[in-house]
Parts: sequence; C-alpha cells; structure tokens
Amino acid sequence: MMRILVTGAAGFLGSHLVDRLLADGHSVVGVDNLSTGNLENLAHLERDSRFRFEEWDICRPFPAGSDPGPVDFVFNLASPASPPEYLRLAIETLRVGSIGTENALKIAEQYGAGFLHASTSECYGEPLEHPQTENYWGNVNPVGPRSVYDEAKRYAEALVMAYNRSRGVKTHLVRIFNTYGPRLHPSDGRVISNFLMQALRGEPLTVYGGGTQTRSFCYVDDLIEGIVRLAASSERLPVNLGNPVEFTILECAQAVLEATGSRSEICFEPLPEDDPSRRCPDITKARTLLGWEPRINLKEGLAMSLEFFRSKAAVGA
Ligand code: NAD
Ligand code: UDP
Repeated sequence: MMRILVTGAAGFLGSHLVDRLLADGHSVVGVDNLSTGNLENLAHLERDSRFRFEEWDICRPFPAGSDPGPVDFVFNLASPASPPEYLRLAIETLRVGSIGTENALKIAEQYGAGFLHASTSECYGEPLEHPQTENYWGNVNPVGPRSVYDEAKRYAEALVMAYNRSRGVKTHLVRIFNTYGPRLHPSDGRVISNFLMQALRGEPLTVYGGGTQTRSFCYVDDLIEGIVRLAASSERLPVNLGNPVEFTILECAQAVLEATGSRSEICFEPLPEDDPSRRCPDITKARTLLGWEPRINLKEGLAMSLEFFRSKAAVGA
C-alpha cells in the first residue's frame, strides 16, 4: 500500500480520486488552496485516519518541517479547470501550471515517487484533426483569453517530460476530455453543471453560440478508473482519457432536459472567444495500453448525477 499526495484534492476530480485511492487501501495526503475547490467534497473523510488534508497553495514551496513527507506517488490535479474560473484566476492558472507543477515534481523527485499530471484536451486547442490522437500537436491561440489555461497545461506537459528525461522521475500525462458527475461545482460555469442546475430550477438552458459545437462527455467514475490504470503503467507520453461519443451542445441540452424531465426552454447566448468548435478523443491508445474504455453513457451518467445537483438546487447553491 502506498502513501500518496493528491494536489487539488478538494476539487471535483481530486476528491473522487482521493475516495478511490482510500478504497484501494492507500493512505492519502490531500493538498488544496480552496481557490475553486470545496472542503464539502472531503467532509465525509473527516474521521478517516488514512486521510490528511493540508490547505496550501502549491505555488509556494512547502515550509520546512511541514511538507507532505515521504510519498510513493504524486497526483497533480491542482488547477482551475472551468473556463469562467480560469479567466477569473488568469495569472494563478499560469502559476499553478508552471511553478506549482514544478513544486509538485520536486516532491516526486525528492522522494523517488511516481508522478501523474492532469493535462487536458485543451492542449489540442481548436483542433484541425478529428478525432484527436495523442500525436496531434494542436492548434492553440497563444495570446487569446483561454491561453492562460491552454499554455499553462502545454508548458506543464513539457516540464513533466523534462523531469522524466533529465531527472529520471517516473511521470505520466493524462489528457482529460470533458468529465462530469456529482461534486462538479454547481456554479463554476461548465456546461453540464450549468444545464442541470438551470433545468432543475426551471430556468432557460443557456446554449452559447448556435450549439453546434461538440464535446464528448465522460462520467467521473470511468475517468478515475483510467487515471488509476495509467498511474500503474509505464507509459510516459500523453494518454487521452475521455468518452469518444460526441454530442453537439444542443444535443447535450436536450439530454439534460430528458434526464431531469424539465420543461425549461433553451436560449442562445454569445459564444465565448476561441471556444473550440469540436472535441472528441481518439482513445485507441488507452484501449490498447490500459484495456480501458468508458462504460457509462451520457444518459446513465446524467441520471447518476441528478441526486447531487437536486440537493444543490434545493438549497439554492
Ligand atoms: P476543480 O476546480 O474542481 O479542482 C481543481 C482543484 O485545484 C480545486 O480544488 C482548487 O482549489 C485546486 N487548486 C487550484 N490552484 C491550486 C493551487 N495553486 N494550490 C493548491 N490547490 C489548487 O477542477 P477539476 O475538474 O476537478 O479539475 C482537476 C484537474 O483536472 C485540473 O488540473 C484540470 O485542469 C484537469 N482537467 C479536468 C477536466 C474536467 O472535465 N473536469 C478536463 C480536463 C482537465
Ligand atoms: N456552454 C454552453 N452553455 C453553458 C456553458 C457552456 O453552451 O452554459 C458550451 C461552451 O461554450 C462550450 C461547451 O459548452 O462550447 C463546453 O463548455 P465547458 O465550459 O463545460 O468546457 P470546455 O470544453 O469549453 O472547456
């Protein structure tokens, strides 16, 4: 059994990963500065002696004597992830992708720990190849509003590869495609949480642009399974993890209306600048290398998310 550091542990994916690692018998130190995360996501672990939480900004080196201590593995998930949040936290996003990621890599180097970094399909930008394979280098606007996230993540990938090639750290890179499920922050602006909250409140669903842009939605449990398998592999180059079934945003809105039984209308709002027009992972590499593929389709995943979002809508979150 391992002692594992998870950065971004109070976030949506981080908290699910912590649950999975504890269920697998490991002990976990979770670190988070709570900039977009929420301690509620970890509240159920308060009495679990194998879990320790430290509120800390990973852009600051750990103070002497209170670093996480010897760890066998580091999962680096800390970073704002929703477009409105990384636009609000623009410089913080660049810093956590660069300085914060290097601090996390240094811990892995110091303790001889494995390292997995949460990268993103945003590395592909506005993709000119479809679906996206890991070999595609992407088409990113380096100075547009989204660049704070995209370029931080691309720099982080380069940094992780350099710590592998120059310092021998056993690293892994996962390029995560849109993932949803319980604990996705109800008001952080991502499409599934926005649509579910709007549908449950009887408000119009805000489709940006014409709604013809596409995304591929992966349920959180499927993603976490893929991450755990990748961490146990010896693959150093990026691996896409996501659900390869592609939906237009209008189809996604329709699916949310059906899942909730809501009679909300659909309204159209301006498309954010540089919003990618399509996004779909080629998961051949994950299938071959990890024997992994998603099991939960959008209809099932929305049904499994309803209870969480209903409880948030009920308290006016
Ligand atoms: P989230 O916002 O729920 O979680 C991110 C967590 O990181 C938050 O708890 C936040 O407080 C924490 N954090 C941010 N800056 C920090 C810092 N400097 N020090 C310590 N903690 C910090 O988002 P998420 O969806 O759980 O995303 C987790 C990771 O996965 C991110 O790196 C994100 O880029 C990546 N990712 C997520 C998706 C997705 O669809 N959910 C897709 C692609 C990539
Ligand atoms: N979107 C939308 N309405 C919303 C929120 C998002 O139409 O209320 C669109 C957004 O423009 C994008 C897609 O849904 O095309 C996915 O957005 P999200 O912010 O979830 O993730 P992204 O893939 O853009 O990072």
